[in-house]
Amino acid sequence: MDYSQIKKNFEGHGFTTQVFSTKEDACCYLTDMLQNQTIGFGGSETLKEMGLFEALQQKNAVVWHNKIPGMEVRKLANCANVYISSANAITETGEIVNIDATGNRVAMTAFGPQSYYYIIGRNKITANISEAYSRCKNVAAPLNAKRLGAKTPCAVRGDKCYDCNSPSRICRIISIIERVPLGMKCEIIFVDQELGY
Ligand code: SF4
Repeated sequence: MDYSQIKKNFEGHGFTTQVFSTKEDACCYLTDMLQNQTIGFGGSETLKEMGLFEALQQKNAVVWHNKIPGMEVRKLANCANVYISSANAITETGEIVNIDATGNRVAMTAFGPQSYYYIIGRNKITANISEAYSRCKNVAAPLNAKRLGAKTPCAVRGDKCYDCNSPSRICRIISIIERVPLGMKCEIIFVDQELGY
């Protein structure tokens, strides 16, 4: 995949960018760069597939509710200096779209950490905001709902969003990051592989 234009678009929106061929290369980059830091992780199959928690915890204090579930751990992660997640979708034009149930990850994309790293597999890239929103609702959310065992129509049928009003609905907060929030440093780490969902 040619990342030159998408890099240019994100850099024009205030992001720094990196491109790696494999998740292992991206993991090495982050472990070289991040040491003696407090790091929070958002919920992410991408980070899990990378083994990033295990790699970074060697030289950092890493907090992730995937390892110790609960709201208190999410709150602790949201006090970290550095935050890492993927995204539900990004656009070729340089925006990031996310849907959360609790809002812990979306909150950190907008305010809190000094540095935010997004790790983006090629399957997360869409043409524009409309396609990104559709991917969030019809691809990422149903798969996440199924993984979480949510009793939602998308999880049961596994095909698309039904805009449910289920108590288990995981689509509760949607954010679009159009430019890097003032006062934050944000880096997009592209990995030219399919990662997460
Ligand atoms: S709104 Fe409901 S049906 Fe649609 S993706 Fe979210 S949880 Fe699934």
